[in-house]
Amino acid sequence: MALVVMKFGGTSVGDAERMRTVADYIARTVRRGNQVVVAVSAMGKETDELLHLAAQVSNTHPGREMDMLITAGERKAMALLCMALHDIGIESASFTGSQAGIITDCEHTKAKILEVRADRVREALAAGQVAVVGGAQGVSTDREVTFLGRGGTDTTAVALARALDADSCEIYTDVSGVFTADPRVVPEARRLKRLSFEEMLEMCAAGCPKPAMRSVEFARNHQVRLHVRSAFTWEPGTWIEEEDPEVEQAIISAVTSDSSEAKVTVAGVPDHPGVAARLFRALADRSINVDMIEQNVSLAGTTDISFTVPREDLKTACETAEGLKVEIEAREVLADPDIATVSLIGAGMKTHPGISATMFETLANEGINIEMISTSSIRLTCVVRAELVDKAVVSLHRAFKLEGE
Ligand code: ASP
Ligand code: MG
Repeated sequence: MALVVMKFGGTSVGDAERMRTVADYIARTVRRGNQVVVAVSAMGKETDELLHLAAQVSNTHPGREMDMLITAGERKAMALLCMALHDIGIESASFTGSQAGIITDCEHTKAKILEVRADRVREALAAGQVAVVGGAQGVSTDREVTFLGRGGTDTTAVALARALDADSCEIYTDVSGVFTADPRVVPEARRLKRLSFEEMLEMCAAGCPKPAMRSVEFARNHQVRLHVRSAFTWEPGTWIEEEDPEVEQAIISAVTSDSSEAKVTVAGVPDHPGVAARLFRALADRSINVDMIEQNVSLAGTTDISFTVPREDLKTACETAEGLKVEIEAREVLADPDIATVSLIGAGMKTHPGISATMFETLANEGINIEMISTSSIRLTCVVRAELVDKAVVSLHRAFKLEGE
């Protein structure tokens, strides 16, 4: 008998029929002798709809009430799922995050889990029930209902798996795992059987949409193996786990791209101490999350600083830089919204020379200009023109032979 935590995302429980399909699957798992805890997300686009409603009603969006509103989506889903289970003879009980003992800090709309006191979940399991927990929510140390943020149901699942010492944490979603590239861009992309936490985190940061990055960090920090898999085909998906030192790592595991960022260049700034500090402090003060930063060597005493930011922050970032132009003696501030990044990720690149050379040659052969480069020990990222990024992904996937096992 195994204890399985299952997370179901919005699409997986998108309508009444999907609810019943998921209930059937849970029932089969229970009838095979397993204990099941479910973390369920709001149905379909419900969270977006609730946010949209809030935007129509209010300009101020008080955090406490926002969280009360948004968590209603998961609350609805958990009750419906239990009803569907009841119909097919599976005993279950739904729990809000608060009832499930998910204790968070007091940061409304993006609360962090501090502790899980899963007594009621344990009692439900001991009574032979399936425990269905509303995802992405908890109760703060101030006894308020809190929302964990977008994608927070993954975090709920990982936290429960950890607290209950579950045998597996299964993230059921609308894709069948993690692929060597986005299959919509690269038809021959292959599903990965396994990936290390580090590789998955780099992929999340480099544009891979699933699973939610925060939950992978949480899983890594708490040593919870994740199984990302399909709630539509139910086939085995991708395991995300600790790197196995006994097994030789793939040199390159995947190619990802990200078209959500824009580039700012602050040109002609004097090359002396404090300029970058002043600029990036001002950006931080406006809560702008800077990703890549590049500063050229200074010729004749001035230098150019380029950086990327989420595209929705481009305007604010440029205004901030413009506002400092006189103070930091910059020549000009240039905005470039039409960029994208392409990244290669692989734990084996740490010990293999020549990966960057092959990447740059591949892009050069396609006539794709590289505008910025950034690296970590297991990732290589290039900024290219947005309209060329799919071509870059396809050619790199081929150059590193990712389609074959
Ligand atoms: N329903 C929430 C969202 O869409 C939480 C989640 O799905 O994880 O972000
Ligand atoms: Mg969701």
